[in-house]
Amino acid sequence: MRINSAYTNLPPAFFFSRLTETVSRYAADHPDRRLLRLGVGDVAGPLAPAVIEALQRAVEEQSRTETFHGYQPETGTDFLKAAVAAYYRQRNVHLSPDEIFISSGAADDLGALGNLFSAAARVLVAEPAYPAYTDVSRMAGRTILHLTANRENSCLPLPTSDTDADLVYLCSPNNPTGAAYTASQLLQWIDWANARQAVILFDAAYEAFVRDADVPHSIFELPGAETCAIEISSLSKTAGFTGMRLGYTVVPDALVRDGCSLRGMWTQDRTTRTNGVSYVLQRAGEAALSPEGLRFSRERIAGYQENGRILSEALEKAGVWFVGGRNAPYLWLPCPDGRSGWDFFERLLETAQIVVTPGEGFGKGGEGHVRLSCFGSREDTEEAAGRLLTFFQNGVS
Ligand code: PLP
Repeated sequence: MRINSAYTNLPPAFFFSRLTETVSRYAADHPDRRLLRLGVGDVAGPLAPAVIEALQRAVEEQSRTETFHGYQPETGTDFLKAAVAAYYRQRNVHLSPDEIFISSGAADDLGALGNLFSAAARVLVAEPAYPAYTDVSRMAGRTILHLTANRENSCLPLPTSDTDADLVYLCSPNNPTGAAYTASQLLQWIDWANARQAVILFDAAYEAFVRDADVPHSIFELPGAETCAIEISSLSKTAGFTGMRLGYTVVPDALVRDGCSLRGMWTQDRTTRTNGVSYVLQRAGEAALSPEGLRFSRERIAGYQENGRILSEALEKAGVWFVGGRNAPYLWLPCPDGRSGWDFFERLLETAQIVVTPGEGFGKGGEGHVRLSCFGSREDTEEAAGRLLTFFQNGVS
């Protein structure tokens, strides 16, 4: 038997179990203390009324022979592709239906897109990063090159004349740092990729959180991206679909490598490996992208953005350096006194009853940092901001 031994090179999956166990133990030992959870990367419900109505209508259709829907096109229905295309048109990005691929979420496609490239393709990951980029590259046995996002580059690393790779994962707005590339910074990556015939895998899962005019929602807002980038996005954070599972990937027609259309290859990949996403879910996605659905999501996101402002203000007042909290639902800060992320996580839990995420869960460059999330309630966030300020003002050790 010959297994894929690359799986044995993966880091052990203990990170979230250690985090959950530590928090559960603390909560059980201190039932009188109110824990404030700034560690969550998940949204709070409920879904938009327009989405619920669309789901109910679609389920009803499935109950009658005359309106029943069986298999759907593997790369997505015409109606959802049209809704995604209209969403992109708001940013002046014009896509043909063939360039849009409906998925079960960004994570699925981030993993599967590697199928298009040879095992010899060298992968550059700007880290700290969403762990899937390095893990799927390891599973495929690829060489991984690391680029560190840190205080010196404001967590937005840029290519230099020495930067060399075939594929690069970029995530903007970023998880975990919350930093977001401006158009002129992203153009540097586009020029770099086009000059080297590299491909950018652009993770836009948090695009709906962008507020600054000079920060693109989509890499395709920028000239030259259509010949070097694939964009992976999702309704998870845009419309609270984390438990629904629906996303979309854009592979432009103009993206050609070694004489092959990557759009054509991805169509072949999808029609071979998947049978598409359910009709009911795609109707829900269409409703999420309708004017009513988007209005609802914008209000929900405005609440998370307000949480970002509250936490940012507290850290500014405390004189703590951080990034994020403006164009993304995360803030990222170095731990005081050179502590590890785990050490600081425990200290914040014990002293202020605040749960954060240790940076060690996000690969190289994550060590010695923590991530704060804006997905909590307004009330908890205000309370946490107050406790953080007191914590930092009282000195940390
Ligand atoms: N990309 C990033 C940067 C994420 O943070 C996440 C989820 O947290 C995903 C992708 C996965 O998104 P989805 O729920 O669409 O699979």
